[in-house]
Amino acid sequence: MLVCRDRNWIILCNCDNGNTPGSTRERFTIAHELGHYHIPEHRRQLISGGRPHGSHAGAFDGAESIEELEADTFAANLLMPPARFVPRLRSLKQPPLQSAVSLRKEFDASLESTAIQTMRHDSRVIAVAKWDADALAWHRISEPFFRETGYRQFKFRQQSQLQHDCATAVALADSKSQFDSTIHETVATAAYCFGYVAAGGKRDILLREEAVRNGRFGVVSMFSILNEVEAKRR
Ligand SMILES: [Zn+2]
Repeated sequence: MLVCRDRNWIILCNCDNGNTPGSTRERFTIAHELGHYHIPEHRRQLISGGRPHGSHAGAFDGAESIEELEADTFAANLLMPPARFVPRLRSLKQPPLQSAVSLRKEFDASLESTAIQTMRHDSRVIAVAKWDADALAWHRISEPFFRETGYRQFKFRQQSQLQHDCATAVALADSKSQFDSTIHETVATAAYCFGYVAAGGKRDILLREEAVRNGRFGVVSMFSILNEVEAKRR
């Protein structure tokens, strides 16, 4: 958390929460708290006696407040500045989750935040989902696909809803001790993944589903346009 005491600003980091010194998580947590300091509305709230609020940096889980999301976005842009991130992303010419896995190492950022940054800057990416054990932890649908294409409802909440051989299900079955595990890839359809999309209709395009286990932190899956011709139109 970020605390203001006698005009001194202090960032407190819980080491028991995985913020070991020098770790990717610690970097993200500090960048997140710097966001609360640098975003004027957040700072004003702290100065005006608002109690310091605990943060779950890097959760990106949509369940928390808009302030947390803003601080996470600030942190992602601080650690992966678009001016450096976008040229690297374009030069990789790989499926999006593969790119994210390479870039997270290069930028020393978490897989979740790199996946979201990749979604913001790769127009092929439709959605990112994070799974804990056998349930969906959070998901994000990219702005253009949510607003313009109308992919508004991600259908999956439980592992039991997934086809047993889809990339996400296979990654969920991978060992929790695997960090740099294989990226699984299968093909899905938009109607299968999103609600209110008519099967066989114009919006029912083929999707690339990629998924990778991130050790005990669960599985990240990414859905993107499969067809390169379709992708170039966007
Ligand atoms: Zn926070």
